[in-house]
Order: sequence, then structure tokens, then C-alpha cells
Amino acid sequence: MTKINYTNAAIYNHDAQDFEANHYVVVDTETGKIVETGEGTVSSAVQVDETVDMKGKYIMPGIMNAHTHITSIPTYWWRDGEEDRHSDSREFNTMYAIQNMKDAINNGITYIRNVGAAYDIDIEIKKMQEKGMIKGPKVMTSGRAFTMTGGHGSGSGHEVDGVDEMIKGVRTAMKKGVDNIKLMVTGGVLKNGETPDDIQFNEDEVRAAVVEAHHKGKTVAAHVQGAEGVKEAARAGVDTVEHAFNIDDETIKIFKEHGTAVVPTMNAMYAIYEYGEKTVPEWARRKVIVNIEKHFASITKAAAAGIPIAMGTDAGTPYNGFQSESAYEIQLYVDKAGMTPAQAIDTATINCARAMHVDKEYGEIAVGKYADFIAMAENPIEDISVIQHEKDVYQNGVNVHRAVAQVEAGQQVSSEMEAVGR
Ligand SMILES: [Zn+2]
Repeated sequence: MTKINYTNAAIYNHDAQDFEANHYVVVDTETGKIVETGEGTVSSAVQVDETVDMKGKYIMPGIMNAHTHITSIPTYWWRDGEEDRHSDSREFNTMYAIQNMKDAINNGITYIRNVGAAYDIDIEIKKMQEKGMIKGPKVMTSGRAFTMTGGHGSGSGHEVDGVDEMIKGVRTAMKKGVDNIKLMVTGGVLKNGETPDDIQFNEDEVRAAVVEAHHKGKTVAAHVQGAEGVKEAARAGVDTVEHAFNIDDETIKIFKEHGTAVVPTMNAMYAIYEYGEKTVPEWARRKVIVNIEKHFASITKAAAAGIPIAMGTDAGTPYNGFQSESAYEIQLYVDKAGMTPAQAIDTATINCARAMHVDKEYGEIAVGKYADFIAMAENPIEDISVIQHEKDVYQNGVNVHRAVAQVEAGQQVSSEMEAVGR
């Protein structure tokens, strides 16, 4: 059996900014791609082997998350203010990556861009997923993130200083097979002794990484939080800026000039703010409290100015995992960043595909694209929070997860996190 017709569905169309009822999508399970889609019934030109009645369900492309850390564990950072991370062994990181992959696909996340993995583990995880050895979303890899000596993420990252070391480092990462280069350009929240405003890599270092990556057709993602760091990274030509706490008019101008996309990771801030009181140390939580409003206003400004926003959560940070948090991030864009539900859906589908340079094959329900999609009982345009509910998940045209029960709206924290006793 090769061609399945999923019929009687309401299919999301980003041009219409809405779901269109009474549509069908025919998939070829051998290639994993969509061969026909439209209104009503399939054309006689397509030989269908099996027909599945979707009973009016709402179908949208699978959720893409442009900012994850599959080797990190959202529940094991601190306990009572003391560091309580897992043993940092390769084995432990790998086992958690496998669990996070499973959580992601079962929650409708069909493609992730991993932007920093201890021991370059995402490179092997990607191969295992492609061979069908582990269940999970498709993976765009970055290997270890680049950071200055002692900089943000230096614990599991790759420390480089100066243009020459950056060039050598980026070329080495690409030799290992990474798809994307991740640079820690400023300080951040989860490391003591630095602030989000600290510049870490200088503009020459960032530009050197961009030139090398672009020569090989790879993208560059920059962790940047403070105002100056965001501008520096965008001027140097990175493809996406992550987090971005302080976007002003000048920043918008630079983004437009360079075609920069923004990956907000609002849930990373929200989750620490909301659940971190007992376990996240004061020095980290303080940075969130001081910046959260600026951050949300910054993303609102970028969205209103028409800057492409690609959904990313920073999954793996405290209380921010691989289950319904991605769908909650989408809701935050509506609740806190002024987007319509359709615009928020686009951030996690077509905008992510474009930012990751995979839009020829992902991001829409369209002929020639991979049949990675989710099917929901309720309409997200009417209530964006329904994406957080249990849903049917399809990968390469095949059902890989079935909704077992409806989860209460707004429940975005996993049972495992609740077990921590936040
Ligand atoms: Zn991150």
C-alpha cells in the first residue's frame, strides 16, 4: 500500500490564514510526500490505495521548533537552589535525548532545530532518527554551541577565541556534519556572573563564522539578548537571532536590511518566572524578572514590524520541555506578542521552514512537501490553546501517534515536572 487519501478534513492554508473545510490530502508513504491536495474529492489521475475519513478534523503542518536542546533535562537544573543537574556523562545526555525525541513527536513536533548539544550528540541522534532506530522529529543539528572561553554555555560548548579559532572551529563542526552553527554572542540567564547585556563574541568573530557557514550553505543562529548584541549579530549576517530582549527601531532596520528572522523562546522566560520560585536560584530568576516584560515587548515590536518570527522554545531549560510547551509558546505569541492565531501557527510552520532553509519540503500542506502534519478535534483559529491538547500525529504520511485523551486546556507542564514539586 503506498497512497493514502486523508479525506473530509479542514486543512490549514497559510495564504488564506484559515482552515478550509471539506479538503483532502493524498500522501505517498514510500516517498513520505504529498501528491495531491484540494477540495472535495481526489482527481481520477491519482490511484488511491486506502482512504481515511478524517471526520472533519483540523489538519495543520507538524509543529517545527527552531530552538531546542535535546540533551538537556528541564526538570533537573536545581533543587532548593543547589545545582542538581544530571551527571554530565555522554550516556546520560544520550538517554535523555532519546526520551525528549519521543516526547516531541508524540506532542506533534515533527521537526526540530537543535541549537547546542553536549558532546555533539544531536549529530548521532539525527542519524538514528533517520534510520528509524528511534522515534522522534526530524533533526537539524548544530553539535556543540560556540562560546568564548568562560562564556555562556561554556560547560558543554566549544570554546573559541579570535577569528582564526572561530574559522577552525566552524570548519571542524561542518566536517563532523552539523547543519547549523550556534553562536553564544552575549551572556544569558542560566549562567552566574554574566548578564544578558554582556557582549561575548565580537563582530569580527561572528562575521567569520557567518562567512564560513554560508560558504557551505549552512545557517547561523545567534544567542543574543541585550540590545547591542542583537544589533551586532544581525549586522554580521546571522540567519536567526534567538531570544532578543531589546529590539528597537534601529534593530528593526538592521533586520530588514539583512533578512534576519527572530526566534523568541518566550516560554523559557515564562516558565522560570511562573514555576521557578522554589528551585531556580535567585541570581538566575532575577535576570528573568528584570527582562521578561522587555523581552515580550521586544517580540511584539518585531512581529508588528513584519520581521519573520520562527517559533522556538529553548526546550531543555527549567520547566520548559518537549511536550505541550511548544504549543504553549504558540499561545504566548497570541496572548503576549499581539499575533492573530493564524500568524502564530505560521511561526511554527512556514516561518520556521523558511528560517531553517527547508521550506521547499516543509512548512505547508502542499504538493511536493513532506506529509508531516497533526490532526486536531478543535479549531485553533477559534482557540489557539487547543494545539496543546492531545492530537493525532503523522510523519511522512503515516500515523505515528494517536490522541488518547483530551488534556485540560492550558496544561503545559509535564507530569514529570510536577513530580519535582515546583
Ligand atoms: Zn538555547
